[in-house]
Amino acid sequence: MRFRRRVVLEMLPDENDLLQRVAKAHGTMRGALLTGLRLLESDELGQLRATVADLESKLGKAQQQLSATKTRRDEQTTTAAKTHSELERVRASARDARAELRAIKSARTEADKLARDWTQYAHRLENLAIRHLFCPSCNDFVPEKEWAEQPTREGVGIYHKTHDYREKSNFLATATAMAWRKLPRERAERS
Ligand SMILES: [Zn+2]
Repeated sequence: MRFRRRVVLEMLPDENDLLQRVAKAHGTMRGALLTGLRLLESDELGQLRATVADLESKLGKAQQQLSATKTRRDEQTTTAAKTHSELERVRASARDARAELRAIKSARTEADKLARDWTQYAHRLENLAIRHLFCPSCNDFVPEKEWAEQPTREGVGIYHKTHDYREKSNFLATATAMAWRKLPRERAERS
């Protein structure tokens, strides 16, 4: 004879609803109750909890990684922005440098033109320069290398250096001064 035992359960309405719902899924009320009891007896719930805990910890780590990635991405964005502004600064100084170079080139062109003008002017002055002066003592023209200078009160006397400086002839000797020029303006003002 098979062992059978009858169990009477008193249930509140919500507990009864629960039993009805689970019974539907497991075929009978008995099947539902036994499935529940076997589940309690086995360690399946404990394993599930452990699995859930493990999954939760993995989720936490994944969230941390995500947050770290976000931080890194923010940092990269900041770095990119900095690099961009640095690039802009470099471009701006390159523009300045180019403008400066243009200014220098134009100044140099101007200076070259001025130098050419001055060279022409110097050549013209050289052509105008006097190379020989007449010495009254020698009664002849004297080249530049034989000239000497004698400071006077108001200027400089130029004379033939083979003689002493004599500004005017007298009954003893003939003058040796050949020309006379003013002191340069700034030297005249200083003295
Ligand atoms: Zn002379």
